Amino acid sequence: MELPFAESYKIKMVEPIRKSTRQEREKWIKDADYNLFGLKSDMVFIDLLTDSGTGAMSDRQWSEIMLGDESYAGASSYFKMKEAIQEVLGFEHFLPTHQGRAAENVLFSVLIKEGDIVPGNSHFDTTKGHIEFRKATAVDCTIDEAFDTTLSHPFKGNVDPVKLENILKAEGDRIPFIIVTVTCNSSGGQPVSIENLRMVRQLADKYGKQVVFDSARFAENAYFIKLREKGYQDKTIREIVRDMFACADVMTMSAKKDAIVNMGGFIAMRSKELHCKASVFNIMFEGYITYGGMSGRDMNALARGLYEGTEFDYLETRIRQVEYLGNKLMELGIPVQQPIGGHAVFVDAKRFLPHVPKEEFQAQTLAVELYLEAGVRGVEIGAMLADRDPVTRENRYPALELMRLAIPRRTYTNNHMDVVAVALKNIHDRRDSIRKGLKIKTEAPIMRHFTVALDLA
Ligand SMILES: *Cc1c(COP(=O)(O)O)cnc(C)c1O
Repeated sequence: MELPFAESYKIKMVEPIRKSTRQEREKWIKDADYNLFGLKSDMVFIDLLTDSGTGAMSDRQWSEIMLGDESYAGASSYFKMKEAIQEVLGFEHFLPTHQGRAAENVLFSVLIKEGDIVPGNSHFDTTKGHIEFRKATAVDCTIDEAFDTTLSHPFKGNVDPVKLENILKAEGDRIPFIIVTVTCNSSGGQPVSIENLRMVRQLADKYGKQVVFDSARFAENAYFIKLREKGYQDKTIREIVRDMFACADVMTMSAKKDAIVNMGGFIAMRSKELHCKASVFNIMFEGYITYGGMSGRDMNALARGLYEGTEFDYLETRIRQVEYLGNKLMELGIPVQQPIGGHAVFVDAKRFLPHVPKEEFQAQTLAVELYLEAGVRGVEIGAMLADRDPVTRENRYPALELMRLAIPRRTYTNNHMDVVAVALKNIHDRRDSIRKGLKIKTEAPIMRHFTVALDLA
């Protein structure tokens, strides 16, 4: 008999979590204005709000914390991080930042000006926010297959070569760079193939543009390439990672994802000149160039995390758990984005709650239902997140209306995944009785989903 799959780690430390009653949750979510970001963490039993900074560090990472060098300038921790970035990712220069969006802020301060256009594959919300804040436009060039949740395609994060070349041809002068998000968060944690990355590189070279990788989940992307792309089965994750980044000039990184730390980020680049220009903004916004908003101990843990996060056994454990939840939901007849992404399962709220009008935020409504049912916190990736058009101020309704269940790294067991699956089944069984959604009471002018106040519609 073939031995079953099991995790590539054992548990050394635990953190108790607490269940609550439906009655308690009804009060708490109302008090939080039906915004799941407004809940205290102890009001949540299983927290799948995000996989960002919520993972469990290893014993090796914790021991690196003790070795942190907190010198203001030239700390050994900075050089540990530099070495890891050179070895794992292949970039000569880098700037530490306190997280991924800070890397975007610093880099875009150098590269983007008003009126620019930045094409890419379904830009992440903070990326889009930092582009639009500079009065520039993000243009989505993702392949059409990504927007049909029922369609199976191995690389739904891919950039459409025709869409990309059309915009490069039409608006070339206004395009400072192309950004590729690996894996593509907004379209469902879907990977981009090496073949596609090479196509982007070729088009960029043809039109004289730089390529930036938004790299939060680069290692998960490499894992999917190993499993799904022809010719990569026998390559190691690190070899694939090097092949991927060979197509980029610059990368931004939220280390809270694939570097398995609670806080941290960086920009890495080949150009010394860009490093020099970005240093000015790094010093202004983040901190001196050898710490950039990070403690020495955190830089140490991050460096260690880059190695651990690119080990096949770790990635297999991680991604198979996400798959486990996804398969369970599919068995129960729940509509999910297929194939299952790397860091999360995305439930198709349009198909789950067809009776709730889109103006009443279907995915947000589903996320609130799931919290009420079992104390599970997911997050809306739909019309609320898509925000209003910066010019017309009309609500934008994206092609996909999803509830994301992001799985923190090395944190929960498959028993937790079972609770989530059954909770969703219970809601699915009574979906015909759910006909009303939510309406906005107050909202912020940008990135409204974090603080929006809602009421029952
Ligand atoms: C999380 C994330 C960011 C932003 O990073 P933070 O560390 O949350 O600031 C940017 N891009 C992608 C693809 C991400 O997943």
